[in-house]
Amino acid sequence: VLRLRGVRKEFRGTAVLDGLDLDVPEHGVVVLIGASGSGKSTLLRCANLLEPIDDGSIHLDGEHITDPRVNPDRVRRRIGMVFQSFNLFPHMSVLDNVTLAPRRVHRRERAEAAERARELLDRVGLAAKADEYPDRLSGGQQQRAAIVRALVNSPRLLLLDEITSALDPELVGEVLDLVRGLREDGMTMLLATHEMGFARQVADTVCFLEGGRILEQGPPGQVLGDPEQPRTRRFLQRII
Ligand code: ATP
Ligand code: MG
Repeated sequence: VLRLRGVRKEFRGTAVLDGLDLDVPEHGVVVLIGASGSGKSTLLRCANLLEPIDDGSIHLDGEHITDPRVNPDRVRRRIGMVFQSFNLFPHMSVLDNVTLAPRRVHRRERAEAAERARELLDRVGLAAKADEYPDRLSGGQQQRAAIVRALVNSPRLLLLDEITSALDPELVGEVLDLVRGLREDGMTMLLATHEMGFARQVADTVCFLEGGRILEQGPPGQVLGDPEQPRTRRFLQRII
């Protein structure tokens, strides 16, 4: 679904992504791990065309999306993204927050968007909260609403950046359950996390980022349990 080749991204002359290759296969769940500043968020933002890349290419479903002639809005409609901070609008109900994208971007009928949104809210256990404002929801509920907003366009790919790090520990479980459910539904996902437990539970492939490249990748049992690279081992020892 997503293919990165030789992707380079610099900030003020320093390479944050340095010729990085990555594949996210259909129905695959790829988890990015690595030290703070290793470029996980930058990679996700580049994949969603929120940051221009300086070299290399990114393909989505075979289409070269980093071609300068491509309209980024058209690409972003096919990708859902969720951030650490839920980014819900405080002055809008949950339902309006969730249907915002399809109304503005897709120009679909409001009723059709609302119907799909209610269906998704129901699936994540938020049907009763559709008409509440975000400040009446717990952090976990807000994050689930943000995930619904990313899903409402039926994206081909979901990008999730540290979606549990702003949550109180007791609320992390409900968001993880939702991600596990999406995985069972076959949603293709690329996500960044500092939580190795989360990575182990949802990943097909774990990628360890360092120095702007993927230093090691493989099944979670291998990369997290028995890494080949001494640097991966050191990283894992530091964080546990
Ligand atoms: P964390 O685990 O803390 O979220 P990360 O792996 O997501 O870290 P990034 O946010 O991708 O790391 O940052 C990678 C590097 O790029 C950092 O050194 C950061 O300072 C730099 N960087 C990111 N965004 C910008 C920007 N807009 N302008 C300048 N430098 C940036
Ligand atoms: Mg980050």
